[in-house]
Amino acid sequence: MSLFSAVEMAPRDPILGLNEQFAADTNPNKVNLGVGVYYDDNGKLPLLACVQKAEQAMMQAPKARGYLPIDGIAAYDSAVKNLVFGADSEPVKSGRVATVQGLGGTGGLKIGADFLKRLNPNAKVLISDPSWENHRALFTQAGFEVQSHRYYDAAKRGVDFDGMLADLKAAAPGTVVVLHACCHNPTGYDITPAQWDQVIATVKAGQLVPFLDMAYQGFGQGIAEDGVAVSKALAAGLSFFVSTSFSKSFSLYGERVGALSVLCQDKAEADRVLSQLKIMIRTNYSNPPTHGGSVVASVLNTPELRALWEEELAGMRTRIKQMRVALVEKLKAAGVQQDMGFITTQVGMFSYSGLNKDQMVRLRNEFGVYGTDTGRMCVAALNSKNIDYVCASIAKV
Ligand code: PLP
Repeated sequence: MSLFSAVEMAPRDPILGLNEQFAADTNPNKVNLGVGVYYDDNGKLPLLACVQKAEQAMMQAPKARGYLPIDGIAAYDSAVKNLVFGADSEPVKSGRVATVQGLGGTGGLKIGADFLKRLNPNAKVLISDPSWENHRALFTQAGFEVQSHRYYDAAKRGVDFDGMLADLKAAAPGTVVVLHACCHNPTGYDITPAQWDQVIATVKAGQLVPFLDMAYQGFGQGIAEDGVAVSKALAAGLSFFVSTSFSKSFSLYGERVGALSVLCQDKAEADRVLSQLKIMIRTNYSNPPTHGGSVVASVLNTPELRALWEEELAGMRTRIKQMRVALVEKLKAAGVQQDMGFITTQVGMFSYSGLNKDQMVRLRNEFGVYGTDTGRMCVAALNSKNIDYVCASIAKV
C-alpha cells in the first residue's frame, strides 16, 4: 500500500489523445483537423506581425520582471474593457466593470466560476449541448452541478432555438448560463442578433446569471459584430460575466493571455467584486505572468499596432471563410451528393460536419484525416494544399 495506490487513472483528454495518434501516424498525407488552433495557408501557426513589432519594441527598452499586481497590468485590463464594452461606453466611463487579467480564457472562466461558487453556492450551471468540453469539467471542478440546455439540432443542421429558449425558461433563478458569445465551439452555429434579444430577455425575466465566453472575438463576423451579445446584455441592464481569450485572436496560445470582466451596477459594487476576484487569484497563482499581457496591452493601446492587428485578424477571419466556401464547392466536385452548404452558414474555427462516428473513424484510420468522433472539424486547419485531399477522403467515406 502506498499513498497513491488507490489513485485511479483519469480518462485521457480526447483531443490530446487525437493529437498523439496523429503524431504517430505515418501516412504522408495526414491532416489534423482535430485541433483547436488557426493555421495559415502553409499549415503553420502564425506569429502575428503586430506581436513581433510589440516584442521588438519591448526588446529595445528591456524591463526587469517584478511581480504584477494581482489583477494584472492596468493598461491591459483597461484595453480589455475597451475592447469588450467600448472605450466610450457608459460602463467603462462610470467604472462599473471589474476586469482582471487571467491565464487565457480558461483562467478567466475559472476565476469567475470560483467567485460565483462563493456568491451562490447552490446555483446550478447550464451549458449548451454540446459545448466546449472544458466548460462542464471546469464548472464541475469549481463545485457546481452542471446541466445542459438544448442547442444543436442535427436533423435541422442548425440551432434548436425553441428548445434552447424553453430550457432557459425552465431554469431556476440564479442559474448561471454559460453562453458562447460568438463562434460556438464545437458546432460553428451561432444564434442571430434577433435570437440574442430573446435569450437576453429570457435570462433577465428568469433572473439567470449570464456568463459570456468570448474566446473568438473577431473570428466570426468582426470585432464589433462578435460583441453583439455583450451589447445586448448591457442594454438590458443585466449584471454579467465575460471571459476573454486572446489565444486565437493574437495567436498567442502558449502565452496564456485572457481576462475576466464582471459588469456591475455601479462603481462601488465593481470595487467590491474586484476585491473578491483578487482573492480567487491570490490563492490560486498569486498574480499573472508579464509577457503575453504586455504584448497584448501594447498592441491594443498603440494605434499603428492596433490597426495592424485588426488587419491580421481580418486576414485570419477571411481565410477561414474562404476555406468554408472552398470546402462546400470541392466536396460537391468530389462527388458528395448531399448539399453541404450549411458549412458556410457556420462561423468561427469549427464545423460540425454532420459526419457520424464511423465515418470519422474511417477518415482517421484509412485516410489520416483527423477530426473528433462527434464530426467536429477545424476549418482553420484547412489550406490550399490539403483541402483537395480532405474533400476526396470525405467523399470516400
Ligand atoms: N472557451 C472556448 C469556447 C474555447 O473554445 C476555448 C479554447 O479552445 C477556451 C474557452 C479557452 O481558451 P484559452 O486557450 O485562452 O484558455
